[in-house]
Amino acid sequence: MASPDRKRKILELHGFRCVYCAEVWPPEELTVDHVEPRVKGGDHSEGNLVACCAACNREKAGLAAWSFLASRPVQRANFLLHARWVWPRLRRAVEEAV
Ligand SMILES: [Zn+2]
Repeated sequence: MASPDRKRKILELHGFRCVYCAEVWPPEELTVDHVEPRVKGGDHSEGNLVACCAACNREKAGLAAWSFLASRPVQRANFLLHARWVWPRLRRAVEEAV
């Protein structure tokens, strides 16, 4: 992942709240998650990065957010509420996932 400053900036943008479980965590409990995984072409832009707690990050693993959220309605609603800086096309993919 990028520099500590950049990580901090992404976490601040999200108010230190995990976009998947909607809990606020201390910074050391948070990671920066790629909505669209690197291996699937996702980049390091702010539109592809969200705050994610360690537990949610383990559960999501290498999945794209829309694949992870397709079977998790609560987390999906949290994501749509809290991941406000996500690129529109990624947000649409989450909205349309079933
Ligand atoms: Zn979480």
